[in-house]
Amino acid sequence: MVSQSLTALSCSVTIPHMTVRISLSILLTCLCAFGQIPSSAHTDLYFPQLADGGDAAQQWQTTFTFVNPCLSEARVRLFLFDNDGKPLAMDLGNGLAADHTFTVPAGGSRVLRSKIASSAIQVGWAIARSSVPLQATVAFRVLENGVARQEITSQPTLPTLVYTSFANRDLGVAIANAWSDMPVRVNVVLLDKDGVFVGQRQFSLPPLGHTSFNLMQYFPDLPDDFYGVLQITSANPPQEDFVAWTLNADRGMISALPPGAAEWPVSHWERIRLVYRRIIDTALRLGVLRYEPELIISNAPVINAFAWKGDLILINVALSELISDSPSELAFAIAHEVGHIIQWQLNDQSDDPTNPEFDADIKGTMLALLAGYDPYAAAGTLAKLSMASGRAGLITQFGEQLAPDAHKSFNTRLERLYDTLVAVCSEPTVQDACKAYKSVVHPHLPPAAPLKAGSRLK
Ligand SMILES: [Zn+2]
Repeated sequence: MVSQSLTALSCSVTIPHMTVRISLSILLTCLCAFGQIPSSAHTDLYFPQLADGGDAAQQWQTTFTFVNPCLSEARVRLFLFDNDGKPLAMDLGNGLAADHTFTVPAGGSRVLRSKIASSAIQVGWAIARSSVPLQATVAFRVLENGVARQEITSQPTLPTLVYTSFANRDLGVAIANAWSDMPVRVNVVLLDKDGVFVGQRQFSLPPLGHTSFNLMQYFPDLPDDFYGVLQITSANPPQEDFVAWTLNADRGMISALPPGAAEWPVSHWERIRLVYRRIIDTALRLGVLRYEPELIISNAPVINAFAWKGDLILINVALSELISDSPSELAFAIAHEVGHIIQWQLNDQSDDPTNPEFDADIKGTMLALLAGYDPYAAAGTLAKLSMASGRAGLITQFGEQLAPDAHKSFNTRLERLYDTLVAVCSEPTVQDACKAYKSVVHPHLPPAAPLKAGSRLK
């Protein structure tokens, strides 16, 4: 078995032709990509609530909208679930199904609107999986005798351990379990406007299960003018995370509330898949991958990632946790492994023929840059790996530099990446792209930093 890991595998200082050749097309296409993927675009999209059907006096209609801001076609699967976690069949224009497969062209959009086929109101939720990040919404419209009266739009969200929301008596709450193989329990705690405890309920959701309710159903003694704060927390963190959404409702009028999922901890599985999809999509678009490797995410308590031949990339959640405040650092780690995949699939180590690790670093930095991530993040990834393993000391690093292992000291790896960025951005055809990139992402860095910026008229 050949495995090339991020931390475990000589060194010359040639600036590779391959890098420069890739970078010409890469940095130019990157101008369309970097920084222009909306932060709301995701590959894993969780829609915590939907409603459809009913008799003519009050009908609900569900509409999914997907926008593809990327340069590649999106392949999407949309799964609908009922409250028990069972498939929820709905006609979205292509017949009754609970599992809808479709594509969204690069730069295109798709709208899937239900036929309101059921005479009973169907309630549930949905998950979409896309091959590239998408923006999306699910809207459910209220019709009275065929006339639209109101529409509520729910944005996709990510699993969380803590959700915080404004609360009043009529607040609408939806909670779903994204795990297919285990139930999830959540505590719902209600505080008044001064933060004083009012009451608490616990909910248990079956695998892929869902519940939705108005606050007064579970807190019936609230006065009409009550308002306060609702906190939904996992009863068994960190395993049992959940998906949630709330909707402000006041005397028959409805309005949106800010997303309440906690910023921390991030949902690592989703982040790994999101970053992985962006890197792989960039590599496929550039033609530097023959086929897509399989991604395996592991909970093994080891801070590492590795590539196996041209077929498989393994990312440990422990590595994602180490660099959990920086998607760009994760992008470098993943793109480094994709660099090894390129070496295998294309028999290409031309960026540094003397050292497969430096070669993967260079390929990875370029790929991460072209996928819209910050190339400087390589420094964070490598330094944190050294720090977390207790190998950051000068003497240890000196030893690693002299050791036969190809990884060498992280200082040397950073130096090579610096040289690469300087060399690539010195190419006449790439200079403008580097300047443009730097002017958007790093406008205040000094001129001598790589990705040199143009000088500004005073
Ligand atoms: Zn490696």
